[in-house]
Amino acid sequence: MTAPGQNMKINGERLWDSIMEMAKIGPGIAGGNNRQTLTDEDAEGRALFQSWCEAAGLTMGLDEMGNMFARREGTDPDALPVYVGSHLDTQPTGGKYDGVLGVLAGLEIVRTLNDLDIKTRHPIVVTNWTNEEGTRFAPAMLSSAVFAGVLERDWAYGRVDAAGKRFGDELERIGWKGPEKVGDRKMHAFFELHIEQGPILEAEGKDIGVVTHGQGLRWIECTVTGKGQHTGSTPMYMRRNAGRGLARVTELVHEIALQYQPNAVGAIGHVDVYPNSRNIIPEKVVFTVDFRSHVLETLEAMVAELMETAPGLCADIGVKFDAQTVGFFDPPSFDETLVARVRNAADRLGYSHTDLISGAGHDACWINKVYPTTMVMCPCKDGLSHNEAEEITPGWASAGAEVLMHAVVETAEIVE
Ligand SMILES: [Zn+2]
Repeated sequence: MTAPGQNMKINGERLWDSIMEMAKIGPGIAGGNNRQTLTDEDAEGRALFQSWCEAAGLTMGLDEMGNMFARREGTDPDALPVYVGSHLDTQPTGGKYDGVLGVLAGLEIVRTLNDLDIKTRHPIVVTNWTNEEGTRFAPAMLSSAVFAGVLERDWAYGRVDAAGKRFGDELERIGWKGPEKVGDRKMHAFFELHIEQGPILEAEGKDIGVVTHGQGLRWIECTVTGKGQHTGSTPMYMRRNAGRGLARVTELVHEIALQYQPNAVGAIGHVDVYPNSRNIIPEKVVFTVDFRSHVLETLEAMVAELMETAPGLCADIGVKFDAQTVGFFDPPSFDETLVARVRNAADRLGYSHTDLISGAGHDACWINKVYPTTMVMCPCKDGLSHNEAEEITPGWASAGAEVLMHAVVETAEIVE
């Protein structure tokens, strides 16, 4: 398998223009985008993407989850396609690059191959996954999960938004429900380019993040039960204050995560206090612990330590601790051959790079369960994302797209 020559470059200006063109659809109120999944704006963005794909000579496939697959033929009819893409939907206050960069970089690869008249043995399929963001219809990465067989199609159809509208109905309404059975496609490999959504690459002055793993997570819903009594008239020694239990467990979670540096994090981000009254000692506190790590053993060790230590910390102050796991995602470990191709491509092209663990979830994390997968990341300013002020430079975008192209084309095999 030969790697593409280092003179194989994308057209950075064309990529940037396409990103700016797409950003005109579903503008936000502060320079970003509001192009939420299965809205009229989403349909408009899809139509624009389709028109670009057709102009580049691609054939569009559409599955029953609305996932779009734009195919450039290979020379070998039996070779499985190399897939490359991300998502075109955005947060309600989203940026112009989150997801969009990965889809349009896939298109730019094809445009470049067309310009240079390069053929590959494997077909290349540029992909737009439906509802990656999950804001309108939870959960996030819904359609790649159904594709990977993690979630059921009909369960996904039944998801409702805040207005009570069903996912399945909205998909049909915007006209992007396809005939193809979801998950029927076989992949030779899947690649996703994404902005980092974190501060590491910019802070370290690196052009490229070589993503080796994704973060796994455990969400533990905890309930601390005490006694709700008058804050003024109950003597201190008689109190069973569930709020103190929360305080102790908050500190414990922080300390547990600190033991597993640098690759573990933990926090309590959601708290409900009952009855939540100024002059009643908290009777009950319900909160969720969020532990993350890219190492499965670490994740499990953190949960075990919480479960072992928290009940005693609470019992010491007369309150009761109960907990159950309500969310889990095992850390994805990306395909080593593909990861090496990304790293080598960055070297060959003269871009600085560092290995990275994706802190956020991505469609690639689900596809990784069923086919060899990896990701490429580029920096974003101040690590800012899911914010209309999200910003990258044209140089970062084209470096990322170029590394992506080299890894994709090497995998799809150039036909000399
Ligand atoms: Zn994204």
